[in-house]
Order: sequence, then structure tokens, then C-alpha cells
Amino acid sequence: MNEKYQLAVIGTGSGGSEAALLAAKKGFKVVVIENGALGGTRLHHGSYAVRALHASVRLHGEFFKGKESGIDADLFTDSLVQSMKAQRAASTRLARELQHDLERLNLRVAFGRGTLVDEHRIRITTEYGKHEEIEVDSIILATGAGPDYIGSQNSRIINSDQLLDRIHPPAHLFIIGGGYVGCEFAAIYRGFGCQVTLAEQSERLLPDWDESVGAHIAQQLAADADAGPAYLRRRCAETKGVADHRQCRRNRDFT
Ligand SMILES: Cc1cc2nc3c(=O)[nH]c(=O)nc-3n(C[C@H](O)[C@H](O)[C@H](O)COP(=O)(O)OP(=O)(O)OC[C@H]3O[C@@H](n4cnc5c(N)ncnc54)[C@H](O)[C@@H]3O)c2cc1C
Repeated sequence: MNEKYQLAVIGTGSGGSEAALLAAKKGFKVVVIENGALGGTRLHHGSYAVRALHASVRLHGEFFKGKESGIDADLFTDSLVQSMKAQRAASTRLARELQHDLERLNLRVAFGRGTLVDEHRIRITTEYGKHEEIEVDSIILATGAGPDYIGSQNSRIINSDQLLDRIHPPAHLFIIGGGYVGCEFAAIYRGFGCQVTLAEQSERLLPDWDESVGAHIAQQLAADADAGPAYLRRRCAETKGVADHRQCRRNRDFT
């Protein structure tokens, strides 16, 4: 017989996990179904992931402030890779903590793709193609939203999720869109010493925000352009010729 639950939550991002924890604390019999990494965007490609990278960038900034030119380029490149690894380790640890929190409340975590069969039945298909059908009284769809641009990991044109999946930062990053995600990535990769060009079609960065915030961020990013290790600035200068898209009107170039 199919297992029966009072509530099924499909998706364990910030929305799904909070709803599931709340329901379990209230005594409901709950199952959460996750197709990808536990914790969703927030832990792996969103706010927590970028905060971890920001922290690493800040540490690098402090380290290099007191250094003269002639720093060991290989050492620095290695440390960039270490930062990406540290970010992943932090995301994995947070996902593990979330799994403990969920299981402590006797909530079942089922890994696989959830598909609605009808109003009260869900089919769970694991990555190995195994199917299970469960019966539920209520269902919460918390499947989130991915980046608008699908992209492909093998392409040079990628979305923000795919950028975070790459362990080696690019020499030159061209970011389309000066919303908060674009600005956040510009600050991080600029801090890693990459050449960054940020393109925004409206007159200012963060067009949906208060005007003063966009102006402040533009100022901060321009100021950061003067920081960073000398050798990386040299390398950035060498890549300038590649970026003919920098001719675009209104591009903000943080070299
Ligand atoms: C770079 C970046 C920075 C951000 N910074 C901030 C910030 O500072 N503050 C802020 O508030 N927000 C921020 N956000 C936005 C925030 O991360 C998202 O709004 C939030 O994570 C969405 O949560 P969610 O639960 O709706 O969906 P998600 O976190 O996307 O979770 C959905 C989950 O559902 C799973 N799923 C989908 N379909 C199925 C299925 N059929 N079966 C099983 N599982 C499925 C997915 O694998 C995923 O794990 C940022 C986003 C990005 C990309």
C-alpha cells in the first residue's frame, strides 16, 4: 500500500523547508521531496552562497592591502580556487544541518522528482528511474524559479548558477543586467581580480531600487576597481582587446 502523509512539500528551498518545518512542528505527518541539492537556491546558488564568497573576497582584500607588487601569482590563483571550494563546503554543511533539522522532526526527506498524479497523489522518480507513489491530504508546491537564461555549462554564455558551479574564475566576466544579482557578482569577481564589465540597459544600476542605492553601488564598484593585486590588473589589461562588447552604451566597466 502507498504511504500516506498529511502534507507533501515539493522543493526544499527557503519557501519549502520553512513550510515543512512549521507543519512538522505542529505535529503533521510531512514528506519533503527534492530533485536537486537540499536547501535550494538560497544555500547553493543564492544569498548564502554569495555571502560566503563575499566573505572570502573581503579576506583576500585585507591580505593584499599590505602587500607590495611581486606577489606570488600562483599562490593567489590557488587561493581563489580555495575560496570557491570553501563556499561549496559551507553550502554542503548548511544543507546537512537542514537535513538534520528536518529529520529531527520525524519528517521524511525523499530525493527525486515529484510529479502530481492527481490532487492527492504524487509520483517520486529518483535519479536512477525508480518510482514511488505516495498519498497526501495536502500539497505545497515550492519549486522556486531558476534563472531566465537556461545556458549550458560548456558554453561561454552562462547563467549565475552555472558561474558558481565553475571553480576557476574567468579572466574577464561580462555581466548582462545590473540588478542585485549582477551587482553582487560584479563585486565578488572584481574582488577576485577578474576584469568585470557590467551592462545595464536603464540609466542606472539597480533600476528597481531607490536611486541613491544604485548610485552608491556604482561608486563602490568603481572604487574597488582600484584595489586588487597588481599582477591581476596587468592580466586584465592584456584582455582588454577581447572585449569589443564594451563599446555598448551605458556599460559600466570595472577594470
Ligand atoms: C545570486 C542570488 C542572490 C540572491 N540573494 C538574495 C538575498 O540576498 N535575499 C533574498 O531574499 N533573496 C535572494 N535571492 C533570491 C532567493 O535565493 C530566492 O528567492 C529563494 O531562494 C527562492 O526560494 P524558493 O523556496 O521559492 O525556491 P528555490 O530555492 O529555488 O527552491 C526550489 C527547490 O525545488 C526543487 N524542485 C524544483 N522542481 C522540483 C520537482 N519537480 N521535484 C522535486 N524538487 C523540485 C529545486 O531543486 C529547488 O531545490 C538571491 C538569488 C540569487 C540567484
